Amino acid sequence: MTSLRRPAAVLAATLAAALLAAPGPATADRADAGRATVNGKHVIAISVDGLNPRALNRLGRAGAPNLHRLIKDEGAGTLNARTQLEMTVTLPNHTSMVTGRRIKASKGGHGVTWNDDKVTKTVQQAAGHDVASVFTQVHEAGGTTAVYATKSKFWLFERSWPKAVDKNVIQVEKNGAVVKALRSDLATDPASFSFVHLGKPDQVGHHSGWMSAKYLKAVAKMDALVGSIMDQVSSTPALRDNTVIVLTSDHGGIPGTKNHAIKTNREDYRVAFAFWGAGVAQKDLYALNPDRAKPGRSRPGFGASPQPIRNGEVANASLDILGVGPVPDSLWNVEQDLDWK
Ligand SMILES: [Zn+2]
Repeated sequence: MTSLRRPAAVLAATLAAALLAAPGPATADRADAGRATVNGKHVIAISVDGLNPRALNRLGRAGAPNLHRLIKDEGAGTLNARTQLEMTVTLPNHTSMVTGRRIKASKGGHGVTWNDDKVTKTVQQAAGHDVASVFTQVHEAGGTTAVYATKSKFWLFERSWPKAVDKNVIQVEKNGAVVKALRSDLATDPASFSFVHLGKPDQVGHHSGWMSAKYLKAVAKMDALVGSIMDQVSSTPALRDNTVIVLTSDHGGIPGTKNHAIKTNREDYRVAFAFWGAGVAQKDLYALNPDRAKPGRSRPGFGASPQPIRNGEVANASLDILGVGPVPDSLWNVEQDLDWK
C-alpha cells in the first residue's frame, strides 16, 4: 500500500517549474527547480532492522562490501553504538530514531511501547502531549520528507505527523521494492530527509535464528540494497555533493535464538551507527567524537556521562547535516554535537 502526499506549496513549485521549463528531456537543472531542499542538502537515514554487527565480521568485506565501505572504509562509523535502554524492539527504537527521545513517557520519552500494527494510537497519544520529530522540523524549515518501510506498523509515522510526512511508501516485507521506490525518487524528486527501513534480517532472524546461514544471507542482501542506494547517490550529479547517508539499527539479536527482546543482552543492545557521503570524515566514529564514551561491552545507563553513541541520535544528527536545529524537547544529541565531518 502506498499513500502519497505533497504540500500545496511544493506541488505549486513543481508545477511552476514544469511550466517554465522548456520542452525536452529533463535536466538536472530542471529537476532542481522543483525540488525543496534544506540548505541544498539531503539525508537518507537507513535502519537495517535486527542487524547484529557480528554479521558484518562474519560476512567480511567480501560478503558485505557495501556496509564495510559505508561504516569503515569510506565513512565515519562504529559497530559499537547502543540502542534505547528501556526496550530492544522495533517500533519503540525507530520512534526514538525519528523523535530523538527515550522511550518511557513519564521521563519525557515518546511512550511508544507497542510493536505491532494493531495499536492505532499516535505518538502524541502515547506520550500524552505534542511530540515533534525530524519530519516536523524538516518540514518547518521548508524541506520535504519521505518514509520507505517494510513493516505495516510504520504507518505510525504518517499517522502521527500527517502534515510533515510528505510521502509514505510501505511495502510489507518487500525490501527491494522500497529501495526501488527510494532510488526512483532520488533520481527525480529526492526528499530533503528520507527514512528507509529494511526489515529482512529481523524477519529471517525470527524464522531461522540470528547468525544462521539464512540470516547472514539476508544481511548480504541488505548490503547489496544499501550499495545500490550508495551508487545512486554517487552517480547522480544533483546528489553526490550534498547527500549524507546515516545508518543504524533498532536492535541486534541473540545468535542461535529467534529473540532480540532481552534489553540487557549485548547481542541485542549493540548496533552499528555510521555516516557516509558528502563531507563525511573517514574515521572511527568514537575517535571523531571524544565527547561520546566508548562503552566497551557495557550497557551505560541514562546517568552515564558521557553517553555512548545511540541509535536515537539519528533525528538530531540528520537535522544537523541539513542545517536545521534540534527536535524540541528531544534528548539524544540535542546539542547536535555528534560529529560526522
Ligand atoms: Zn523483531
